[in-house]
Amino acid sequence: MSTVKTPIETYSSSIGEVFSKQQKQSLHMRSENIKQRARRLKALQLWVEKNQKPIQDAIYKDFKKPATEVNITEIYPVLTEIKHTLQHLNNWTKPAKVDAPISMMGTTSYIQYEPKGVCLIIAPWNFPFNLAIGPLVSALAAGNTVVLKPSEMTPHTSELIDTMVGELFKEEEVRVFNGGIEVSQELLKLPFDHIFFTGSPSVGKVIMKAAAEHLTSVTLELGGKSPAIIDQSTNLKDAAEKIAWGKFINNGQTCVAPDYVLIQNTVADAFAEHLIGAVKQQFDSKKQGFDISTDYARIVNQKHFNRINELIKDALEKGAELIMGGEAKADENFIPPTVLTSVSDKAAVMEEEIFGPVLPIRTYENIDDAIEFINSKPKPLALYYFGKHSSNKKLILNSTSSGAVCINDCVLHFNHPNLPFGGVNNSGIGKSHGWHGFMAFSNEKPVLKQRVGLTTSKTVYPPYNNRVQQV
Ligand code: NAD
Repeated sequence: MSTVKTPIETYSSSIGEVFSKQQKQSLHMRSENIKQRARRLKALQLWVEKNQKPIQDAIYKDFKKPATEVNITEIYPVLTEIKHTLQHLNNWTKPAKVDAPISMMGTTSYIQYEPKGVCLIIAPWNFPFNLAIGPLVSALAAGNTVVLKPSEMTPHTSELIDTMVGELFKEEEVRVFNGGIEVSQELLKLPFDHIFFTGSPSVGKVIMKAAAEHLTSVTLELGGKSPAIIDQSTNLKDAAEKIAWGKFINNGQTCVAPDYVLIQNTVADAFAEHLIGAVKQQFDSKKQGFDISTDYARIVNQKHFNRINELIKDALEKGAELIMGGEAKADENFIPPTVLTSVSDKAAVMEEEIFGPVLPIRTYENIDDAIEFINSKPKPLALYYFGKHSSNKKLILNSTSSGAVCINDCVLHFNHPNLPFGGVNNSGIGKSHGWHGFMAFSNEKPVLKQRVGLTTSKTVYPPYNNRVQQV
């Protein structure tokens, strides 16, 4: 598969130029009417609505993602984000009055939400449209200018994004720089006012180090191993259907996909049967084979194809049992849905984020073991509990830390416009979506107004004469 080829030499001069232009423009945009921000968002909305087919085609070319999946996981979330933002923009941008305590009597105070300025968005490949444009919506809503770097691994989508941005915005407002690591590295030398990065924890650390040079604030949307916990009280068929979808949609290349299942040993076999049935029903309903099915996407490229195959091989060598899976096709980056049981905790598949169509099922005897296992790993981006056991639910909520929790479902929380989305520590820093996304790109500026000739501070002006003896 080709990658976007944009020689860094072509860009290196214009990156700096665009940045300077955006710095000037961002000063102008600070005092803009909110209607201007809404106008930009509306233009984006119309473009996405009109260009659904080119978006579907580009993502299909990148990793054979079915058009319906593109509609559900790329176009719909972006349109929802825009509509939700347009609906609330007036309220979000209004200065928020705060009450004055007795010690501040006579003053009036409020919080003004000002744009951070010139923002950099670096996007991943796995939802190449959604995860580039979703943050762009929040950045524009908050009144910023944006430099956007989509992923080099999904070249067709990245080129389409470049075209879209070129049609809708002046480069001093929004500009796309396509390319790989070398383009990111050039961009990261600049003193952006905020960096919004979505990608792996290891690259997240590179971004944070670069940001530290300029004390640039960051939002890091990262990944990790999100567990799905199942106990005896679970409706196994219901859980299997939901996990089958959450795991194998987008070919398992979803940051919030259930990475592995932790299941009480007494119900493990019954669950596995339901799961295999649900995966076949959803992704190979015509029973022609997953490789023929038009409902099953592909691994993004050969590097990841090889990585995932190695994970399966390593797990099998360390004693795992393959209860669903089969032959992979290297020429198509195709790996069938793969389910593993009896997996060693030392297998790489239980150590690294899988990010592919492989689901290990690990058993536990009692819930404390499951919690201990989760807590032995970095904090996940999401945690899923399937069951009706209220004490287990409470215990899991109170004894683990994760970016989010879904009870009796998975992945769904990503699309809730009123919930903050993001991780914690290794799975991320900061939040996005809706109001939280708007806040990520805004500076909360407190403004205190005093009356002329009046101040409570006078009581503490020197000379002190030992006036305040105790507080
Ligand atoms: P990645 O970290 O490899 O790349 C992300 C972006 O960073 C790309 O644009 C890439 O060009 C750039 N990049 C890569 N290496 C770089 C470097 N050394 N210096 C500067 N820039 C660099 O991630 P990916 O493979 O595109 O995406 C998969 C990862 O992203 C997974 O870990 C997944 O869990 C995570 N993810 C998280 C979320 C979320 O919202 N939390 C969403 C999607 C994906």
